[in-house]
Amino acid sequence: MKRLFAYILFYCLPLLALAQIQWPAGKKAAIMLTYDDGCHTQWDHVVPALNEHNFKGTFFLMGCYLTEQDIPQWRKVSEQGHELGNHTIYHACNDAKADTLSGHCRALNCYTVEEMLNEIKIMNGFLSAIDGKAQHSFAYPCGQHKAGGQDYGVPMIEQGICSFARMSDTEDLIASPSDLNPANIPAFTAFPGYKASQIIPFIDKVLEAGGAGVILFHGIGGDWVTVDTEEHQLMIDYLAAHSEIWVGTFSDVLSYIQQQK
Ligand SMILES: [Zn+2]
Repeated sequence: MKRLFAYILFYCLPLLALAQIQWPAGKKAAIMLTYDDGCHTQWDHVVPALNEHNFKGTFFLMGCYLTEQDIPQWRKVSEQGHELGNHTIYHACNDAKADTLSGHCRALNCYTVEEMLNEIKIMNGFLSAIDGKAQHSFAYPCGQHKAGGQDYGVPMIEQGICSFARMSDTEDLIASPSDLNPANIPAFTAFPGYKASQIIPFIDKVLEAGGAGVILFHGIGGDWVTVDTEEHQLMIDYLAAHSEIWVGTFSDVLSYIQQQK
């Protein structure tokens, strides 16, 4: 009896809990490349590199950094099949300082959940004006999800304000459709000065699991939280050499997995 119980525990339960994701023909895993803050180096050093291999990336924009001149640029990025995502207007984090112009506190602890959700809705409107899309995905500024001490991610998803919300700073991946929590999508962060050799092991881990993984970048070859253009290109080359990996937008890959839940 004991042996039978051990058999069920070790062989059957993990199989039930970890049903594999069924990928489209020829694909065995997916990587979602995401780029934050609307850094301008992404136009020069990311979009052409993605386009060369028909890879689709996701760019999370923040309203306070968008200028009139940026809008045609981002519209062009969207027209090329990439995704524009919501990264709020003011990029409120726990450690943000007061707005120097208005004196208004932009730290997350100064917000209520309602204020945060309103800001995200306004940013959705900006994004729709640029890309014409009705629905957008989201990335938590600084990976922090509490406004005034209350979680704002779950109500944001439940109210249909955004479809999926990305965290940061974790090496977790989505190995099974049951792992998919739209309010808490894990992402591997490429920190400043990261080499391709520090990012590729994460890609290998995702491939080995037959799962889906998100990688988070900021500036490439400039701006902030910068990864060198050459190192980013080495990662792109690695992905291009593995045609069994689907490099798709955050929303496309996650929606595909969600249909299997
Ligand atoms: Zn950010």
